[in-house]
Amino acid sequence: MASPNVSIRRVSILGSTGSVGRNTVSLVEAEPERYAVEALTANRNVELLAEQAKRLRVKLAVVADQSRYRALKAALSGTGIEAGAGASALVEAAMLPADWVMAAIVGAAGLASTLAAVRRGALVALANKETLVCAGAMVTDEVKRCGARLLPADSEHNAIFQVFEQDRRHAIERIILTASGGPFRERTLAEMERMTPEQAVAHPNWSMGAKISVDSATMMNKGLEVIEAHYLFDLPGERVDVVVHPQSIVHGMVCYSDGSVLAQLGSPDMRTPIASTLGWPDRIAAPSPRLDFARLARLTFEAPDPVRFPALRLARAALAEGGTAPTVLNAANEVAVAAFLDRRIGFLDIARTVERTLDALPARPVASIEDVVATDHEAREVAGGFIGQPAPALAAAT
Ligand code: NAD
Ligand code: MG
Repeated sequence: MASPNVSIRRVSILGSTGSVGRNTVSLVEAEPERYAVEALTANRNVELLAEQAKRLRVKLAVVADQSRYRALKAALSGTGIEAGAGASALVEAAMLPADWVMAAIVGAAGLASTLAAVRRGALVALANKETLVCAGAMVTDEVKRCGARLLPADSEHNAIFQVFEQDRRHAIERIILTASGGPFRERTLAEMERMTPEQAVAHPNWSMGAKISVDSATMMNKGLEVIEAHYLFDLPGERVDVVVHPQSIVHGMVCYSDGSVLAQLGSPDMRTPIASTLGWPDRIAAPSPRLDFARLARLTFEAPDPVRFPALRLARAALAEGGTAPTVLNAANEVAVAAFLDRRIGFLDIARTVERTLDALPARPVASIEDVVATDHEAREVAGGFIGQPAPALAAAT
């Protein structure tokens, strides 16, 4: 029976026009009486942003690209909804007093706004994994200092969060992230060399934004997720395993000292993990397709191939090295993925560019967010310099 006195949750959605953002909007819209929406943000898509802002009757809508400000202002005129633009307005959106903030901007561009929500002590549903990869120690320190809480929205981490017995964490031996293996799971290296952006973004199971789709194809996504898991669950990288599971039904697992393995399963539909964070600590309804085990019939698992997917090794090495290495890894990957989507480099050049950038910038300790931001800029410049240059073959996988 539905509770008659559901308290209203104030929410903001950073990156509301993206794949995760639109899924989040759909869940909020399904039960409008439960939510009051403070802010929505987008990069450039003013049309969709304004439409969402009007439907959800938000207080503030922000577009990151300053050149789109006038268009946003015009689209919202007469509605009473405030319009904002630029980096400081993004932070302002995160500062409005929402109890729950979805961080769904893609890339390190989401760092400042995610941190602003953390510093207010909000419940932060984290989809924006690059923020934890590039500034994990700083962000988790701020979470503790400010009494915030990170609710993992990434499907694997959300799965693990659901079966991770916090009060018995001494009995947790390891956690396992599943990976679909992406669209090139069965391709040879020679075939992968020729893959186009269209082929790379055609993910077999999940419908997602372009950047994470390419990350899935290189398996850098799983590398970023190992680093993300390290920070979310405070476990060393050696205790974060990856297994390829092409059906994407089992999303994550926790292995306990008595031999028990607890897993979360569901159809590959982001509305389930997002709903788990939006309702937390309760559960709310999501319309994701229900599993029919008799029809599924077979769930299979295999080890990732380190030769065809070197990104996983690069990410693990960056995590082990620590300091600025994960920041460099993330920045170089963002630059390389953008260059691949622009057809300036080939598919296998993505990992090559990341490796060359890591080699060129030896890890240093990180003392502040300013260090992180400076490293991110430096790594983007170095990686950008490698784009278009002939790259040496990747070092042999070990
Ligand atoms: P997307 O490209 O579909 O959407 C990204 C959102 O961020 C959009 O609203 C866009 O306008 C905004 N944005 C882009 N660049 C920006 C910038 N420079 N400044 C401010 N805003 C900017 O991406 P997505 O697939 O929704 O992924 C978002 C994040 O969630 C990523 O970090 C991704 O790794 C993570 N994630 C996505 C999925 C998925 O199913 N799509 C699953 C797990 C995790
Ligand atoms: Mg994931």
